[in-house]
Amino acid sequence: MCGIVGYLGPKQAAPVLLDGLTKLEYRGYDSAGVAVLNPDGNIDVVKAKGKLEELKKAVDGGRKLRGNCGIGHTRWATHGEPNEVNAHPHINDEQSIAAVHNGIIENYAELKAKLIRHGYKFYSETDTEVATKLVDYYYKKYGDPLEAISKFSLRVRGSYALAVMFEKYPQTIFAIRKDSPMIIGVADGETFLASDVPAILKYTRNVYYVENLEIARLEKGAVSFYNIDGDEKDKAPVEITWDAASAEKDGYEHFMLKEIHEQPKVVKDTLNSLLHGGEIDFTEIGLTDGELENINGIIIAGCGSAYHVGVVMQYVIEDLARVPVRVELASELRYRNPVTSGELLIVISQSGETADSLAALRAAKERGLKTFAIVNVLGSSIAREADKVIYTKAGPEISVATTKAYSSQLIAGYAFAVKLAKVKKTITDAYYSQLINELFALPEKISSVLENRESIQKFASRTVDKEDVFFLGRGVDYAVSIEGSLKLKEISYIHSEAYAAGELKHGTISLIEKGTLVFGVLTQDMLVEKTVSNLAETQTRGAVVAAVASEGLKLPDDFDRVFRIPETDGHFTASLAVIPLQLFAYYLSVLRGNDVDKPRNLAKSVTVE
Ligand code: GLU
Repeated sequence: MCGIVGYLGPKQAAPVLLDGLTKLEYRGYDSAGVAVLNPDGNIDVVKAKGKLEELKKAVDGGRKLRGNCGIGHTRWATHGEPNEVNAHPHINDEQSIAAVHNGIIENYAELKAKLIRHGYKFYSETDTEVATKLVDYYYKKYGDPLEAISKFSLRVRGSYALAVMFEKYPQTIFAIRKDSPMIIGVADGETFLASDVPAILKYTRNVYYVENLEIARLEKGAVSFYNIDGDEKDKAPVEITWDAASAEKDGYEHFMLKEIHEQPKVVKDTLNSLLHGGEIDFTEIGLTDGELENINGIIIAGCGSAYHVGVVMQYVIEDLARVPVRVELASELRYRNPVTSGELLIVISQSGETADSLAALRAAKERGLKTFAIVNVLGSSIAREADKVIYTKAGPEISVATTKAYSSQLIAGYAFAVKLAKVKKTITDAYYSQLINELFALPEKISSVLENRESIQKFASRTVDKEDVFFLGRGVDYAVSIEGSLKLKEISYIHSEAYAAGELKHGTISLIEKGTLVFGVLTQDMLVEKTVSNLAETQTRGAVVAAVASEGLKLPDDFDRVFRIPETDGHFTASLAVIPLQLFAYYLSVLRGNDVDKPRNLAKSVTVE
């Protein structure tokens, strides 16, 4: 995935484009570029390999480019290595058309062959150059940008958020999207385009969410929308109510640390949006008690941390509501031919654009399954396509490694489980009230875990040289372990594995040697003794053992380090136990000098398969 931006207005375009790209760098950062229409009416393009800083240097912060209309791109390569030639914008040979693109043109090879037959030359390995030249081809054929873009979209397969400038239309940008996000913001006399809201929040809060196969024509201070037949459509903007600071670092060294500290707030915000008058209330979502009562099986699908939330939900829903649940990696589910019989599919995704999760959702709908989404980004593809949506209230998450989105997804999952249990009458009214009270107590308990960050930082500095870290747990503690392990891998680049503690003896224990770091997650009364025995087995073989454990659980005195978390209901401990593990990964990444918010090879929302 990558980030695209566009600007039209009275200001110099280049600095605004660079500023927008800075906010989108989490989406891609292997190369970047901008195109600006200069006062002589020609399109100037500058591209640079590497992080956005390189592009900023190349254009002297934007000062080298003059003009009030432009487009920009920060890339996360899918087709062709990250280099200057492959970076966007791509242009036609006459330099009269420039385009930026987020997504993948699946039939690009066939289209390239066609264009070559028509005399086109290609300089890059990208599918985007093909997209640009296809628009050029149709523009030359039909003489109209709207028509050209419409024909383009009928001819290509795949996903795209595409913004195009035509030299002949000097104060206009044309855009279209399919399955890749795009928003358009309008302010007094100026218009902005971006992949995501933070890029334009500083300038306007009036935002249009572009729908699939909707064509937009941007002019100064105005935007018109058309369907694929070229008919104009009415469309209303949405007012963004986020605090602008939520897209800034706000004094923290990294977005990840800021987002870790935002967890009490986003957990509370998510809860407040789902509970009214002390009751879990899904009427706004359109989910009735009758519908909940009819749920007899659930499939949860997600990727990465969202999948890990699903693993927690499986334990919690099955135990509380006694409904069978299976959790699936969306990337596997979509290619299987699963046996289903009327289950509800729950898709979890921060961005709501995760390609595999979206595909799993579509496949389930084709099979006639009811679908439900837990999504953070308003108006995203998954949110629009699922039958019902719970929006998490995490706000924009910038750091590639998720923390606050994960925590708010957990809360949404708990609320769903508790409500289902209440409707199914598998819990007593008294226990229901107790669970609600526990949910409301979580934000404060998360804050108290965060207060102990220094002890985690110290421990991280002692373990900075470890090359292998293992995480062990049972039940919900296993679900937390896989998330802790993923965090560590993502940003510290330390090899790490998470195991269901009982599996240790079936293989992993052969990897334990003197000095290996093993983290035990211990929050479940009934399981603690079993996991403690497994940890002792690793100690016997020389492991350094650290534990994240609930207050009050009795542990041996010979663990190397114990991080205590407050007590809560056993179903909700993941929300607390994950915090020390997030901090541990964060501090190790900092100590190792890594780029915490933008780890190598990763991108924030994976809109490719
Ligand atoms: N497919 C395009 C490229 O490789 C865009 C990549 C993306 O959106 O991540 O340049």
